[in-house]
Amino acid sequence: MTALGIIKAWRHNTMITTYHRPQTLDEALALLNQPNTMPLGGGTLLSRSAVDSVSVVDLQHLGLDSLRANGSEFVIGATCTLQSLYEDSNCPNPLKNALKLEAPLNIRNAATVAGAIVASDGRSPFVTMLLAMDAKVDYSPLTAGNPKSTVLGLGEYLLTRPRGLVTSITIPLNTKNAFQFVSKTPADKPVVCAALAQWNSGRTRLTLGGYGKTPLLAMDGTEANGLEEAAMNAYHEANDEWASAEYRMDSAAVLAKRCLESISRA
Ligand SMILES: Cc1cc2nc3c(=O)[nH]c(=O)nc-3n(C[C@H](O)[C@H](O)[C@H](O)COP(=O)(O)OP(=O)(O)OC[C@H]3O[C@@H](n4cnc5c(N)ncnc54)[C@H](O)[C@@H]3O)c2cc1C
Repeated sequence: MTALGIIKAWRHNTMITTYHRPQTLDEALALLNQPNTMPLGGGTLLSRSAVDSVSVVDLQHLGLDSLRANGSEFVIGATCTLQSLYEDSNCPNPLKNALKLEAPLNIRNAATVAGAIVASDGRSPFVTMLLAMDAKVDYSPLTAGNPKSTVLGLGEYLLTRPRGLVTSITIPLNTKNAFQFVSKTPADKPVVCAALAQWNSGRTRLTLGGYGKTPLLAMDGTEANGLEEAAMNAYHEANDEWASAEYRMDSAAVLAKRCLESISRA
């Protein structure tokens, strides 16, 4: 927990005034309970913080960067970089496709999985795909006393954004998945994207991204019936400077259909 000096952030002249690099989770949580103190993942966004000065707790020595298959689940450490997840053999291909659109290679090499989730909005293809897979977020709440680690579904996590340190994300390895998108250029973040996960039981989850504050859950059903209608309904107000709601509704239905076709072929 040494102050290594003052790092001038490159965007809004904001300052990281105190830098801590704890060795244990307990130490990190104690530091994070101090006012105006934030977790530092890859720092790609935090350096653009809107507050005037901030203390940061660098997570890199906490050992939260493992990627591990555990039966039918894949446990992704919070501080894994987007690129290390992309390169892992357990990473499902549709998630890789979404990761590639999330940020360019240089950013993927620095940005962490948890940082990307915490900082995400509805345009995030990565979080759209995770939400379809019904990812679970493991985090330690920042409250006085002795907080227990808590697991929340990603959907609830995104809605409530609880104050806490994310330690890992878990996704299923036994689902069929698909990801489809439309964007202005092949490397742009999508204007509309659809992600689909289907379990052996028939359970089918469709999510949409490209708009708003968080990706949307369009359908979580026991089978795939009504997928295209659900996609259209979910985006009936998805109007912004990037595209009209009508365009997004039509595109979402087409992308949902393509996702289902791709899963059926797999
Ligand atoms: C040049 C540049 C280009 C970029 N391009 C893109 C782009 O194309 N697309 C895009 O989506 N983003 C882009 N970004 C934004 C940024 O890269 C992403 O949001 C990134 O995924 C953030 O991850 P990080 O690990 O760097 O997070 P940080 O900057 O370290 O942190 C981001 C936020 O997450 C919090 N946080 C980090 N780790 C945890 C944790 N374990 N638990 C709880 N909270 C945590 C931090 O406190 C902070 O509030 C860009 C940034 C830069 C500098």
